[in-house]
Amino acid sequence: MTDHGNKATWTNWSGKLSAEPKGIVQVGTVDGIRSELLAAREGGWTVRTAGTAHSHYPLLPTDGVLLDTRPLAGLVSVDGEAMTATFRAGTKIHACGRPLLDHGMGLLNQGDIDQQSIGGAIATGTHGTGINLGSFSSAVTQLSLVLVDGSVVTCSNESEPDLFEAARLSLGAIGVVLEATIQVREAYRLEEHQWLEPLDSVMERVDELTRATRHFEYFWWPGQDRAVCKSIDITEEPPRYPLGKEGQRLGWSFEVLPNQRLNPHTEMEYSVPSENGPSCVEEIKDLLSGHYPDVEWPIEYRTVAADDVWLSPARERSTVTISIHEAVENDETSYYQDAEKIFRSYGGRPHWGKVHYLTGDQLEADYDRWTQWWRVREDVDPTGVLLNDRLSQLRPL
Ligand SMILES: Cc1cc2nc3c(=O)[nH]c(=O)nc-3n(C[C@H](O)[C@H](O)[C@H](O)COP(=O)(O)OP(=O)(O)OC[C@H]3O[C@@H](n4cnc5c(N)ncnc54)[C@H](O)[C@@H]3O)c2cc1C
Repeated sequence: MTDHGNKATWTNWSGKLSAEPKGIVQVGTVDGIRSELLAAREGGWTVRTAGTAHSHYPLLPTDGVLLDTRPLAGLVSVDGEAMTATFRAGTKIHACGRPLLDHGMGLLNQGDIDQQSIGGAIATGTHGTGINLGSFSSAVTQLSLVLVDGSVVTCSNESEPDLFEAARLSLGAIGVVLEATIQVREAYRLEEHQWLEPLDSVMERVDELTRATRHFEYFWWPGQDRAVCKSIDITEEPPRYPLGKEGQRLGWSFEVLPNQRLNPHTEMEYSVPSENGPSCVEEIKDLLSGHYPDVEWPIEYRTVAADDVWLSPARERSTVTISIHEAVENDETSYYQDAEKIFRSYGGRPHWGKVHYLTGDQLEADYDRWTQWWRVREDVDPTGVLLNDRLSQLRPL
């Protein structure tokens, strides 16, 4: 993010999304956040809260103010009995591992990269892979937020439960999260194995593969017979330093789970009921060979445990996530729109931080708590300070 005084330019990680907010303001204190929210309410502009801008969906573009939460960083406290840890919301995921290890703790899971903020990961349901492992949103046990009226509220299952449920996956539209308490576990080491296997064989035994280890995923590149499979499991062996290449690492969880994604791309990801995963991939594969032979970017296949988060794509169902990608310099629209029809035909729900083209009506049909989420939202932000144009379009009539 860049700040040019009064004239600010913002772009997301891929560079595909941009905006000219009236200001980009670094915030690290309650007072700083409160004064921005109250000024916006008074002045009639919107405020969006940015993590590290890794979302492909236009959650952040606004002509109002963007809050840059990078100064809001660090581990606040741990609770060894409840096995929870409280982080300031702007803490990057890669900055969680070492401080947690110092307390003998580790995150339950994490995604492909570790550059995002905890606040952003929670607000969009960011996840890793593992049939028994849920998303960041599902691991949250308590949140403290600054609401649009300037008040600070702490919510959990016990206190303000509706606000908590809405804020567990908030799209940045409930309040500005100051601190998040998340479930952790004792520190653990992981060893990964990577191999090539014909895609047909992987799909035939995908249930066996996903059950065999704590984390299983594969990437398949169009035109290839074989998929690149990766299994990661807990080990009692000591770390092996230097860690070596992806696919061969043995180390602490935060050293083995994240990878580097250096090539800018866009991504669409859908969560389908786990039993639909293999057939859905088969159709996406046919779509690629039949209509988009020039796409060179892979399909990624992962699993997520069912949860009870109001807006979670894994809500009340064991889930397979299927991601498709395209280079930033190419127009992905037609490919993604065709793929979206396939994902939808298998009961797919979109990742909140990745590309999708759904309307509010379609999302309402997907989520039994959709209108309740909006009701809670409107109660705390009746004039829509925390909505940008895209989110406003999703609002139920
Ligand atoms: C290379 C790459 C790899 C990725 N890998 C994965 C993956 O493995 N698994 C996965 O599930 N997703 C993945 N994603 C998607 C990514 O995790 C999500 O888009 C996530 O939201 C990005 O976090 P962020 O900090 O960049 O948030 P941003 O994109 O900056 O913001 C996302 C949302 O969070 C809200 N938000 C951020 N901070 C706060 C706060 N303090 N209070 C209130 N709201 C807040 C924003 O308002 C916005 O609505 C990946 C994305 C990229 C580009």
